[in-house]
Amino acid sequence: MLDDLLQGNARYAAAFSHGDLGPTPARHLAVVTCMDARLDVYAMLGLELGDAHIIRNAGGRVTDDVLRSLIVSVELLGITSVAVIQHTDCGMTKVTNSELRDLLRERRGVDPSSIDFLAIDDHAQAIRNDVDFLTSCGFLPPDLDAYGLLYDVATGRVTPI
Ligand SMILES: [Zn+2]
Repeated sequence: MLDDLLQGNARYAAAFSHGDLGPTPARHLAVVTCMDARLDVYAMLGLELGDAHIIRNAGGRVTDDVLRSLIVSVELLGITSVAVIQHTDCGMTKVTNSELRDLLRERRGVDPSSIDFLAIDDHAQAIRNDVDFLTSCGFLPPDLDAYGLLYDVATGRVTPI
């Protein structure tokens, strides 16, 4: 696997022409989205390298660590808008907190009761909660341009929530 990655990088670096990009995203945008391998975040939103921060985790949920990253994005790197994007057929809609906790107890013999896996019952509700949190939590500007989208893995289309 490592050899494959290094070969892939050698091809990438041979054609690389973006060495002049600075750290401030050109579109002043941060995207919070799922780690799902089917989401090509730059391509699906018409973004180019250097345009946006992409913050990913299971489900595309606004967690403490996402908030940590967004604070850095906003305060140090000029981000003024945040898109929260979940997607259809997400694995986090197919499990519950208790199922994941049981699985870990069984396989690892640990007590995961302190972990909230942020499983998703309803995309619209989860997206609205997370977007509302961004502008009401007090750690980000109340006038932050925050919005939610649902990406359809079958069509490639996003729908505003
Ligand atoms: Zn997902």
